[in-house]
Amino acid sequence: MSGPSIYHWGWMRRPDARIEDGLIIDGVKAEPYHPGEYQKDILNAIQRISDEATALDFTRQWGILGLATSAPEVEDHFSQINGAITFVYAARKKENPDIDIKSIHREVLEFFNPNRGCNLTPKGEPISAIIHFAQRIKYLSEAKRLLKLYQEDETEASYEAEEWISGLSIEWRKVFDIENIEFLQKQYERGCSNSDFYHYLLSLIIKATRFSFSHRSERGVWVQLYTSPIAGRPEGHPVIQFDGLFRFIQYILLVDGGPSPKRCADPKCGQLFFPAKADQEYCPPPPGVKRSRCENRHGQWLRRHGISKPKLKKWTT
Ligand SMILES: [Zn+2]
Repeated sequence: MSGPSIYHWGWMRRPDARIEDGLIIDGVKAEPYHPGEYQKDILNAIQRISDEATALDFTRQWGILGLATSAPEVEDHFSQINGAITFVYAARKKENPDIDIKSIHREVLEFFNPNRGCNLTPKGEPISAIIHFAQRIKYLSEAKRLLKLYQEDETEASYEAEEWISGLSIEWRKVFDIENIEFLQKQYERGCSNSDFYHYLLSLIIKATRFSFSHRSERGVWVQLYTSPIAGRPEGHPVIQFDGLFRFIQYILLVDGGPSPKRCADPKCGQLFFPAKADQEYCPPPPGVKRSRCENRHGQWLRRHGISKPKLKKWTT
C-alpha cells in the first residue's frame, strides 16, 4: 500500500492577476500546475514578498494563496448563513404559515453579500493578509535555519537565536505563542533539557505552529482516493489535498524532512533561501535570469578586495 502523496495536488498560476482596492484579483487566465514539483521555488518566492508589487508577482507566477477561501473560512461563513436562514424562517412562519423558504434564502444572501448577488466567493485576496502570511513564513524559515545551526555550531546558533528572538515584536511573539518569556524561562529551568533556553524557544515556535496546522478546527488538509476520468486507468491511490497554496506552503515547511533554508553568503543581501543543491551559497536568480545577482555582486566585491573564494568558504562555515 502506498502512502499519501502531495505530488498530485493541483493549483492554478494566475498570469493576469491584478490589484484593485487593496485586493489581488485573480483574473481570467488560469494555468494548472503541481506545486509539489516546485517546493523550493515556491518557498523562495514567498521570501521575496514584501509589498504590493512583490505580492502581485508571486500571484502571477504561483497563484492566489487562498487565505480568503480557506476551508474554515468558507465553512464558518456558510454555517452563519444557514443559521440565519433557519432563524428568520422560523420567526416569519409564526406570522405567516405559508411563507416560502426560497424568498428567505434570497433575503439572507443579500444581507450577507449586498453587492454581488448570490456569488459568495470573496472578490479577491487582501494584500495585507498576503504580506502578513509571507512574514510568518520568513520567520518560521529563520526558526528552522537556527534549529539546524544548533546541530552544527551551538555557540553561534545560541548567539544568533538570542538576537533574533529579542528582536521579535510583541505581536509576532503572540503569533508564535512565546509572548510570556519569563514564564517560559521558569518552565525551561524546571525541565531537565540538555539544550539552551533559545533552542527551547525555537522548538516551541515550531511545535505550536505544527499543532495549529494539524488541529481539526483547521480542516484544511484531507486525503482523497484518486479517481480517474478515463476508464481503465489506475485508481484508488491516496492523494493529499489542500484548501489553498498557503496550506501547502506551511505543510512543506513544517513536515519532517522538508526543504531547509540557508542564509545568502552575500553580506549585502543576507536573505534566506532554499538551496536547490547542498553547496549553493547565494540566493537563486530571479525568474528568467541565469546567474544569481548576489553571487555576481559578491564575486565582484571579493575580486576588488583581492579575496579568493576558498577563503570566503572558511568564513561562512
Ligand atoms: Zn542573496
